[in-house]
Amino acid sequence: MTFTKGTEHDREALRAAREFLDEHGGAGAAARVHELVRRNGRWRGQKCVNLIAAESPTSPAVRALLSSEIGTRASGGHIGADSRCFPGLRHADEVEALCVELLKEAFGAGWADQRMLGGMAGCMVAYTALARPGDLMMSVPPPAGGDSSGRSDGPGGARGLRVADIPFDLDELEVDLDAFRREAERLRPRLVSLNQTMVLFPLPVRELKETVAPWGGRLYFDGAHQAGLIAGGCHPNPLDEGADILTGSSGKTFSGPQGGIIAWNDPDLTEPVSTAIFPVLTGSHQMNRVAALAVATAEMLEFGADYMRRTVANARSFARSLADQGFRVLCANRGYTRTHQVMADVRSLGGGLAVARTLEEANIMVNKMLLPSDPDSPDAEPGGIRIGTTEVTRLGFGAAELDAVARLMRRALIEREPVNRIRREVEDLRSGFQTLHYTFGTGAPRPRRPTESAESAEPAVEPAESAESAEVAAKPSGQTSA
Ligand SMILES: *Cc1c(COP(=O)(O)O)cnc(C)c1O
Repeated sequence: MTFTKGTEHDREALRAAREFLDEHGGAGAAARVHELVRRNGRWRGQKCVNLIAAESPTSPAVRALLSSEIGTRASGGHIGADSRCFPGLRHADEVEALCVELLKEAFGAGWADQRMLGGMAGCMVAYTALARPGDLMMSVPPPAGGDSSGRSDGPGGARGLRVADIPFDLDELEVDLDAFRREAERLRPRLVSLNQTMVLFPLPVRELKETVAPWGGRLYFDGAHQAGLIAGGCHPNPLDEGADILTGSSGKTFSGPQGGIIAWNDPDLTEPVSTAIFPVLTGSHQMNRVAALAVATAEMLEFGADYMRRTVANARSFARSLADQGFRVLCANRGYTRTHQVMADVRSLGGGLAVARTLEEANIMVNKMLLPSDPDSPDAEPGGIRIGTTEVTRLGFGAAELDAVARLMRRALIEREPVNRIRREVEDLRSGFQTLHYTFGTGAPRPRRPTESAESAEPAVEPAESAESAEVAAKPSGQTSA
């Protein structure tokens, strides 16, 4: 294979697809796509123990909305007939307004926006609103979990920001606050960006913001991973601690459709953020996704406290089980983790990539991750694996099941048992957990405010709606089924 590492699609994969197309044509390709999606659903959706921290399963209601008609409508602009580029959006406006208000509630924020197509787009919105080309940004370096989202090879670099490191104590995975204060006072960054993709503990948002506030420095919290934990009350809310902007991925712990969310409290940011979103970084923004996001956010408001608390408790107990099975789990002295993530040092087992591949053969999904002790270089082979407990928690796994997974991982990786045998046991274990929890669909949701939810069961008829229903009612009765 002539794979040019990390810079383009695998050319061999594209060549094979080209050959398939040449042989089977477009209709054949369409059939093949259906087949592949079905297989993927059976394998990843039913037979695997997915421990990829960047994933979560969406509820059936959220998935259904993703294929709804509303996703075919052009949505460019801001909510409201006066601001949209297109007519016919009265229902869409209401869906989107509900989504915004749900997001504001989830993040305790004065403002929020639903239009970004990914967490990464959210980063670019934040950089566009908070900084100008040439400004200096201090961000989390990769050995401390920093994602490219905050580095010069990501959207910050494309925005023309200069990047400097936030100093970390890499043993404790804590910001070295004394060193940070010295560096920040010397460099006077316009922006501090907290952009961890490996995230085990909350960061000292308040102290960082207080340090840069004297010269008007801004603090941006890229909570791609933490968004669900924050909404569920299991992670400090950065907005309460002085962050100017919070963004998140809606498909990681937040457990909604993949996309981006953003929230802020400073009224002066509303225009720059909104105009960075439209017309700069979105045109149509997939209203099927927004409808799904609204429902996912409602689920998070309803069930998030319990769901996220269990997710973190599962991560901690899984970390202990892994350590008991002989794995080198990071940060034992700090209780391993306070998020959905666990990090293990697997250098002695062949490194992160090899271990993730072996586990993939066993239907256990984790991903390779740079360790704090790995060299800070783009060519470094990650010596760790990152494990996340969001999906297994939504499926109902608890400490006992995760202990069983840790034992299977020991047998696959340390005892090197044949991987086929491990895979069968993984599939057995997973077969008993096929129902997603924390959804309005399974079981009766427990309304938080009984009176309000009783009201909402019979919504007031809006003027626009009544005009339409009058029209429907005027048709022959056989055609009025709603
Ligand atoms: C995953 C991640 C992103 C990108 O989010 P997407 O929703 O995948 O676009 C940005 N920042 C951080 C820190 C991440 O971990």
